[in-house]
Amino acid sequence: MTDTIHFPVTKTSHSRISEVDFSNLKFGASFSDHMFVVDYADGRWGQGKIVPYGPWSFDPSMAALHYGQAIFEGQKAYRSPKGEILVFRPHANFERFNLSAIRMSMPEVSEELFIGGMMQLIQLDRDWVPSSEGSSLYLRPFMVSTDEFLGVRTSENYRFAIICSPVGQYYSEPIRVKVEKEFSRVADGGIGNAKAAGNYGASLYPTKLAQQAGFHQLLWTDAATHTYFEESGTMNVMFLVGNTLITPSIGSTILKGVTRDSVLTLARERGVTVEERRVSVEEIVQALKEGRLKEAFGVGTAATIAPIAMIQNDGIDYHLPPLDQRPFAPSILKELTDIRTGAVEDRHHWMMKVQ
Ligand SMILES: *Cc1c(COP(=O)(O)O)cnc(C)c1O
Repeated sequence: MTDTIHFPVTKTSHSRISEVDFSNLKFGASFSDHMFVVDYADGRWGQGKIVPYGPWSFDPSMAALHYGQAIFEGQKAYRSPKGEILVFRPHANFERFNLSAIRMSMPEVSEELFIGGMMQLIQLDRDWVPSSEGSSLYLRPFMVSTDEFLGVRTSENYRFAIICSPVGQYYSEPIRVKVEKEFSRVADGGIGNAKAAGNYGASLYPTKLAQQAGFHQLLWTDAATHTYFEESGTMNVMFLVGNTLITPSIGSTILKGVTRDSVLTLARERGVTVEERRVSVEEIVQALKEGRLKEAFGVGTAATIAPIAMIQNDGIDYHLPPLDQRPFAPSILKELTDIRTGAVEDRHHWMMKVQ
């Protein structure tokens, strides 16, 4: 279905690709030549189009800026050794985007606009998909409310757009994390399971304090009791205790990560016991003390799999085993990378090929 859609294209007169150093890509710092844009008005989406990447102008009263109706997705396109371009699980992001839209009282987007717009955009900017190991084209679909109105209400006008950024590795070293027990990112019944801009707004100050103290990220705990793990920054979190892979179960405070689901799927296929449930800080600290915590890592599109080197809880640093004694996460990462780059058979039908 999406193969047949063609959105009108206005091509840039001057490609900026030669200005980008592909051997030293900083996450989210450079953008491909084009973007996909469509506006919503009078109760429906208008004509989607592909135009040169560039600034927008908006009225200072634009609703998204004041009341935060803003959601996004993050996904990636990879280049195979044969030169094919493959997008990882685009329908999973599409479905999650619409769940975020519903929660934020925003209009849903059709598959034609989300997937069709994305595939045509990547096709046009295909030279921007990097080929070096660990690199990819990061895709950022997002939606903001555009009413020019200061009354607090669900907006009537929106813009959906997709921009693309060539990226390399997110974290270059195993991360140090602090168990956060004072601040909360989200609470039960809130918007933690929507990929909403405001969730990040709430996380920045506590994260800044942690980074000033030498950590890379926080390990968030539940807002009510600060005794159960939730997530870490832009990642879901997993613990390998003995031979069991344990991760917090999805609820209203935890984002349903596509990477999380993919890693759990690959782990189950290997016969690893997977437990999705509440994971207490106490349980993990106990496992650390007794040497039963073999690995801990964050999983997310931007960072892929980020091994955790150290966890600080109540002012005490707990160091995890050295990386060379932790085969599980790298082995899952290799399998995931091989699937994404087309090096092994895509038996789950996760990859969508750009024509
Ligand atoms: C995007 C995101 C993740 C990771 O989800 P993926 O689909 O794997 O990229 C995890 N936690 C939060 C809060 C996120 O916004």
